[in-house]
Amino acid sequence: MKHRYFVRCVLAGLAVLAALAALESQVATLAVIRATVVDVVDGRLMPNATVVITGRTITSVTTGGAPPAGVTVVDGAGTFLIPSLWDMHAHMETAGEPWLQLYVANGVTGIRDMGSDLDLILRMLAARPRGIEHLSEGRIPQECSSGNAYRPDACRPLFERLARDGVWQTPTLMARLEAGTIGTPASGIDSEQLVYVRKAMRDQWAAVQKAFITPTLVGILKTEASTWAVVTRDMARLGVGILAGCDGLIAGFCVHDELAMMVRGGMTPLAALQTATINPARYFGIENTAGSIAAGKRADLVLLDGNPLEDIANVRRIHAVVVAGRLLERKELDELRAQVKAAAAG
Ligand SMILES: [Zn+2]
Repeated sequence: MKHRYFVRCVLAGLAVLAALAALESQVATLAVIRATVVDVVDGRLMPNATVVITGRTITSVTTGGAPPAGVTVVDGAGTFLIPSLWDMHAHMETAGEPWLQLYVANGVTGIRDMGSDLDLILRMLAARPRGIEHLSEGRIPQECSSGNAYRPDACRPLFERLARDGVWQTPTLMARLEAGTIGTPASGIDSEQLVYVRKAMRDQWAAVQKAFITPTLVGILKTEASTWAVVTRDMARLGVGILAGCDGLIAGFCVHDELAMMVRGGMTPLAALQTATINPARYFGIENTAGSIAAGKRADLVLLDGNPLEDIANVRRIHAVVVAGRLLERKELDELRAQVKAAAAG
């Protein structure tokens, strides 16, 4: 008797769950109104947009539409809505779980984890690789320039071939210079970011710098980073698929920094933004469900307090983040950051 009652209760519970799931799949849950949607595919702006989200999916994007009754409404007046960002060269093994929170707090909801040895594996690869990291440690521009300083004209045929063959590039422009300078006055990143890094990791960076880095080498790395940014721009112009990747720098912030570096190298803000949104979706073959803002796509969004196509630095001005349909407002993002800061200090 008791047993049958238990079974009935479980079945009733399952039925409620199924009903809730069905409800979730049909009933709109969240709407962002009065925002300007940034189309990361062609750079068009859609002002006064209403974006309706049902569960984890965007179900409609209209101009000036009224939000459905009963949904949570976010007034996005004055904000610019972009798809959330990707770090396409992450190393989570060095930082651990708190950095997942830091990624989200910085509007980055997708990462491609590279583990530790892939660079080595790629270098051994005889077959045509799907993608190349760090411009193959800089050998791509070096070899097509016959070992001289970068020569765009000489490199053009190679870049055209990479574009034709669909070989993606994750140049990680900031990584080598920052590995040599992070935590020192020569670093190009905001020192505020360091409060999110565990002491063990900061010590590790400092030890490497003490052992290998000299002012001369920092100069060389700075020149290299600037050259790589120009190489990346030239590749993008010729149709090579570029992906934004951090290579272990500080979660999320590093994507903003990487995009800024791309723009310093001459890429348009739109082209830079694509490397962390629609390009990762294309790389993974999921562009029908991710990478831009349209009905049927995953509700992973960032509301920015400035137009990123005018100034790429506006990707840092995060008003709110939507992860799989769940809204995280500024206050919650600050709480996430505070938790990561506490974990780093503890
Ligand atoms: Zn790496």
